[in-house]
Amino acid sequence: MNDKNKTRILIVEDEVAIRTGLIDVFVYHGYDVDFADQGDEGLAKALTGEFDLILLDVMLPGMNGFEICNRIREQSREQAIIMLTAKSSDADIIEGLTLGADDYVSKPFSVAQLVLRVEAVLRRTATLQTQSQKIQLGDDVVIDCLNLSCERSGEIQSFTRREIEILQYLHANSERPVSRDELLNKVWGYASDLELETRTVDIHMAKLRRKIEADPSTPQYLVTVRGAGYKLLG
Ligand code: CA
Repeated sequence: MNDKNKTRILIVEDEVAIRTGLIDVFVYHGYDVDFADQGDEGLAKALTGEFDLILLDVMLPGMNGFEICNRIREQSREQAIIMLTAKSSDADIIEGLTLGADDYVSKPFSVAQLVLRVEAVLRRTATLQTQSQKIQLGDDVVIDCLNLSCERSGEIQSFTRREIEILQYLHANSERPVSRDELLNKVWGYASDLELETRTVDIHMAKLRRKIEADPSTPQYLVTVRGAGYKLLG
């Protein structure tokens, strides 16, 4: 079952019909798939480090998806995680993103859409691994994009993969402001500008400012350009 050439996906989902459907779809698309129907079993499998990506339900017996996400991130920033949220509740999504999930899909979801999200997350993971670079901001912040971390005033901060992608995109386009729609399109791979997703950008910017700015309320590096978007100043 364990084919080294295939991308490995772990599906943690207790609802039989959804789990079976997901297994069929991802096997059909050429992935090596394993599953767990209990939260604690899902965590144990995820922590083996054998999986490239984890599809993680939130409401699970044994241990909920947020806690599993948190525990995985304590040990690994490499594994991609997509949360399957029960409803498109802002609170769920915000919590998932804060804990370091790479993306989320709200139930009921379209399987075709989920496959696209999985491919997009895996593509970004691969891109990030080939772009080893550091971003220097002023005299006090050096962001290590490969290790998803930075040091600011002697304090180590860690980033999610998505946060680093945002910084890399802004850095590559630092001569101009970048709009939220452009970020959603280029960094998230979304075509839509749904209000909820636009807010997702704002949530990420707030999190980034808490990590890289001395005073997040008056940002020095990650600035807002009124009516135009965000700009990263070196
Ligand atoms: Ca469930």
